[in-house]
Amino acid sequence: MGSITLKQVTKNFDDVNVIKPLDLEIKDGEFIVFVGPSGCGKSTLLRMIAGLEDTTSGNIEIDGQNATHTPPAKRGLAMVFQSYALYPHMSVRNNIAFPLKRAKVSAAEIETKIANAAKILNLTDYLDRKPGQLSGGQRQRVAIGRAIVRQPSAFLFDEPLSNLDASLRVNMRLEISELHKSLATTMIYVTHDQVEAMTMADRIAVFNGGIIEQVGTPLELYQHPVNKFVAGFIGSPK
Ligand code: ADP
Ligand code: MG
Repeated sequence: MGSITLKQVTKNFDDVNVIKPLDLEIKDGEFIVFVGPSGCGKSTLLRMIAGLEDTTSGNIEIDGQNATHTPPAKRGLAMVFQSYALYPHMSVRNNIAFPLKRAKVSAAEIETKIANAAKILNLTDYLDRKPGQLSGGQRQRVAIGRAIVRQPSAFLFDEPLSNLDASLRVNMRLEISELHKSLATTMIYVTHDQVEAMTMADRIAVFNGGIIEQVGTPLELYQHPVNKFVAGFIGSPK
């Protein structure tokens, strides 16, 4: 389960409207990328889906249920923050365990979940290290591990790779795509990087000034951009 439907969703900060009435259906298991220039509302909408920002009007449905006013912890979604959101004084094991301990999961179950996540993410040999003793890519995997152990119905990523260097970014893209294949869980991935969008997405939503200009597969957007903005952003010849 992991379908998310936005119905006429808007967001104002004080009197400033940053998300205009917006409709979007995210299918269970799809990898959808929100792309667009800085300040166009991508993070705000992701945080609204996560429940970290309230919704000014409209509805957010998760698996067919109205979740507009559901608290973040009860939405069954996991936000993956950039790796610098790890706790520097805690081991990798405890960083990954943190959300589970807070949810009062038993110690035995926590151990099993950590072992599974570590295996998927190639972190088994690093569980006793502190984040400062890891590479940038390993730290990002720990941040993903912290989401995986919660077995969310969808993962929400906000520019997770933007503080990694270029070659590492290419590797992590592949790893996240592989993870999506193996878990078959819905992923919403925010980026301002066209290449990331084109290579990772099942579908791309192109944002511009609080609206979605177009939603489609990378090929659809490339071959049939609805306007010059989409064409320019995606890099198609139109
Ligand atoms: P993006 O992630 O696409 O770069 P954001 O969603 O962060 O864009 O921001 C969209 C708009 O909302 C911007 O104009 C930003 O300044 C504004 N904004 C974001 N968060 C807040 C906030 N907490 N208070 C006021 N304005 C905000
Ligand atoms: Mg942002």
